[in-house]
Amino acid sequence: MKLGTPLSPTAKRVMFLGSGELGKEVIIALQRLGVETIAVDRYPNAPGHQVAHRAHVIDMTDAAALRALIELERPHLVVPEIEAIATDALVAIEQSGVCEVIPTARATQLTMHREGIRRLAAETLGIPTSPYQFADSLAELQAAIDSGIGYPCVVKPVMSSSGKGQSKLDGPADVAAAWAHAASGSRVDQGRVIVEGFVDFDYEITLLTVRAIGHSGAVETHFCAPIGHVQVQGDYVESWQPQAMSAAALTSAQDIARRVTDNLGGRGVFGVELFVKGDQVWFSEVSPRPHDTGMVTMCSQIQSEFDLHARAILGLPVDTALREPGASAVIYGGIDASGIVYSGVAEALAVPRSDIRLFGKPEAYVRRRMGVALACADTTDTARERAKLAASRVKTSIA
Ligand code: AMP
Repeated sequence: MKLGTPLSPTAKRVMFLGSGELGKEVIIALQRLGVETIAVDRYPNAPGHQVAHRAHVIDMTDAAALRALIELERPHLVVPEIEAIATDALVAIEQSGVCEVIPTARATQLTMHREGIRRLAAETLGIPTSPYQFADSLAELQAAIDSGIGYPCVVKPVMSSSGKGQSKLDGPADVAAAWAHAASGSRVDQGRVIVEGFVDFDYEITLLTVRAIGHSGAVETHFCAPIGHVQVQGDYVESWQPQAMSAAALTSAQDIARRVTDNLGGRGVFGVELFVKGDQVWFSEVSPRPHDTGMVTMCSQIQSEFDLHARAILGLPVDTALREPGASAVIYGGIDASGIVYSGVAEALAVPRSDIRLFGKPEAYVRRRMGVALACADTTDTARERAKLAASRVKTSIA
């Protein structure tokens, strides 16, 4: 493995498809290793655009546009950061050998869709998941619930993330509204949903799993300490590391994560989402890339999930060790406006052992994630209090 000089013929070039806050941090990690970075997003001045060598705005679901850009930039690696991409084009590009897709084109294809990854985990690999069925109409949804899924249950568009279009249903009166909500929240309006039995878990975790080349030259699997998190309406609001788990649950979680990521293959960080009750563990889903709840690792680990991803995709060794307990708390837009102003940053940073990231998103919405507060402490409880306090001190306004 050799690294070159950016903006020269020897450059190692990495293209990001999606350039949000997670991509931005991976780009910064790659910049530190002298990698030439190309950030792509569907809107101008996305967070990653602001730190990359070059920025492009295209519709990444447009296969022809995607292919043309890859041919223009000739990256060595293509790193998908979001799910809504023309993944068929990535498969063809990978097959032609033009560049490598991280972790693999097949992994991006399977995980862009809840159906692909759920069927792989539950049906091919036999991993425990919530009971589930797929439905293409309100009548099919009702039939799926009546024929076995029951109440409470959760309905989600098959193509969505961050809780968009997701509802919890407590009884028959909720079904029609959940169907309509799913149609409005689907990224690509396919009108297909997954209905899952509600798992009454004690807590949920993200198990960051890293596939990286080891000293032997073969890919090895490494696990970070489990990350606990709280979701509100399917969207993460705070996370902490480490989440205490029984030894049996941790072994089971690592076993599930290893089986899923072995199947997806390639190199890089995977965010494996799991539900835990006692010693029992259910697979929920996996991101073949750093995970939003993993932003806590910017303070709690020696190498953040972004450093780990940068190293793993370049074929470099990784260290997943925890440094100390930490927590993250999301800073929301709070208003719908462009070019917003952040005040209270000094007050936020007055919280002991705290830090913040403001993503620089050009446009805020009330519930848009605009930044994150981080904090370390001797215990995760104290770290959580500090991170939430720091986040609460950042105020947004129009000017
Ligand atoms: P997802 O978009 O599938 O990651 O779902 C977002 C969040 O909704 C999860 O992190 C859970 O907190 C909750 N959730 C999703 N599916 C279920 C389920 N089957 N049972 C209980 N909670 C769920």
